[in-house]
Amino acid sequence: KNGTILVVGGAGYIGSHMVRQLLAARYDVVILDNLSTGNRKLVPGGELVPGSLGDAEVLDRLFAGHDFDAVMHFAAFSQVGQSVNQPLVYYRNNLAETLTLLEAMVRHDVRRFIFSSTAAVYGEPTAIPITEDHPCLPTNPYGNTKLAVERLLADCDAAYGLKHTVLRYFNAAGADDAGDIGELHDPETHLIPIVLQAASGLIDHIRVFGTDYATTDGTCVRDYVHVNDLARAHLLALDALMQGADSATYNLGSSNGYSVNEVIAAARSVTGKEIPVVTGPRRPGDPAILVASSEKIKHALGWKPAYASLRTIIRTAWNWHLKQAH
Ligand code: UDP
Repeated sequence: KNGTILVVGGAGYIGSHMVRQLLAARYDVVILDNLSTGNRKLVPGGELVPGSLGDAEVLDRLFAGHDFDAVMHFAAFSQVGQSVNQPLVYYRNNLAETLTLLEAMVRHDVRRFIFSSTAAVYGEPTAIPITEDHPCLPTNPYGNTKLAVERLLADCDAAYGLKHTVLRYFNAAGADDAGDIGELHDPETHLIPIVLQAASGLIDHIRVFGTDYATTDGTCVRDYVHVNDLARAHLLALDALMQGADSATYNLGSSNGYSVNEVIAAARSVTGKEIPVVTGPRRPGDPAILVASSEKIKHALGWKPAYASLRTIIRTAWNWHLKQAH
């Protein structure tokens, strides 16, 4: 065995893909998940402990019972709009509960941590593609909570030697080729799953949020990165930390930008379905263009996305969508 990893939020969309890769890489995996947005049926293996990362007693029992080499943290709320209306819920869940987790790690002398951060820490970008040294000026509470944890981690490294990797995800998408785990949000707010719901007739149409952006076709441009490529980056970061690497922050994107209209066109081509569209006003807080530079992690850790094209990403999401329907 290569080690034992605590995956917090391992019953969620990205966490479940991570668990599968950790098991394939011969790690023992323990999953802590309160199943609020996660789902038992997404857990592909490992030991599932239902419980909250904000519960110090649960954490003490967990850390006393296992010799964890590292902790990966996927358990957070991630809807920008909801965070604007309910900032206290977001600060409680995303910041305060992470604080409780880090306290337990230091108490039990576990000092490797991989954190799921977001492109939302950058706010409205002043340069594209976005590099890691771009100023961090989040424009919503969700981004603020993620940036607050990033700063907390830097302070914990300085004080306690807590070595960490911060991974700033751009738009996670797609599903494992097996089709048995994938994106399962209720309500669904993300573009690709909604487009596929429209393709299969589960909803009448997809509403495009804004057609007057300063982009080639007026719709927002995003950088879609396959969930297995995200998980693969965590595995590389884990190996580096296990070998004594210092703390680091990396973007995770495909470095390709696609507009909302381009995503819909690609989905029509992949599914062979019509996908009715209606246009609507902008969604508050959406920057026009978010595209990552992922050069830093490519150079430092040798990360190379395997799912390079948008069509492939959509095809894996469609495969999962079709299996869900049955
Ligand atoms: N979007 C849209 N209609 C929808 C959902 C999303 O036009 O029903 C747009 C949204 O405005 C953004 C892009 O699709 O420009 C990606 O949105 P998503 O919520 O998937 O990810 P985000 O970029 O907000 O993290």
